[in-house]
Amino acid sequence: MDKNLVDQVVDAAARVVAGGAISANGHGNVSLRVPGAEEMYYTAAPSLRGLGPDGIVRVGLDGTLLEGQLPPIQGAVVAMHRAMYQDRPDVGCVLHTHSPYATAFAVANRPIACWIEALAMFGLADGVPVAQYGPRGSDQAVANIRQGVRPGVPAVLLANHGVLVFHRTAELAILIGGVVEEAAQAAINAQALGGPVEIPGDLRAAALQRAMAFDTVGTRTA
Ligand SMILES: [Zn+2]
Repeated sequence: MDKNLVDQVVDAAARVVAGGAISANGHGNVSLRVPGAEEMYYTAAPSLRGLGPDGIVRVGLDGTLLEGQLPPIQGAVVAMHRAMYQDRPDVGCVLHTHSPYATAFAVANRPIACWIEALAMFGLADGVPVAQYGPRGSDQAVANIRQGVRPGVPAVLLANHGVLVFHRTAELAILIGGVVEEAAQAAINAQALGGPVEIPGDLRAAALQRAMAFDTVGTRTA
């Protein structure tokens, strides 16, 4: 296996854990696309906490295990990672967690709306949709995810399960996983105060414009 890619996956798992958008048991998986190949590196351990290089496997996008040990229970969710890489050539990283607040929305089968500006800035101006439930790793689950994902939208809630994020880089996927969790937590807290309020559509567009302007000129305080 390519040591550099293994290190990148291990580092990404550590950053997901450090960021806190993960359930107490650390369940989840991270994968990175192998540039120029129909392959990915994937975390095969039951938890992202304390994950080391021996917890990484190399898997073909056709589902063939190419290197490493992949227990069937971890192998079950490989299919949804593969599907994101197959459907979206721009995706370089797929991240799946059971981050608690976002998973509360997934369990309630309720989408997350654009309640905080960061969602609009990172491609989720229309919120995070819900993919309907299907048994873990089943063809039905993958079909539901494909149906739930919207073009250009980098995250989807998996009904009665958790969250799936996919983006060009691990940095962006991890950042968006954190933003989705933050929005879900704020919304649940806001329930005690009359419920969360969605940002008006035109202002969501303005937030995105500002984000793109920052991208162009570099981050600065304004
Ligand atoms: Zn899961």
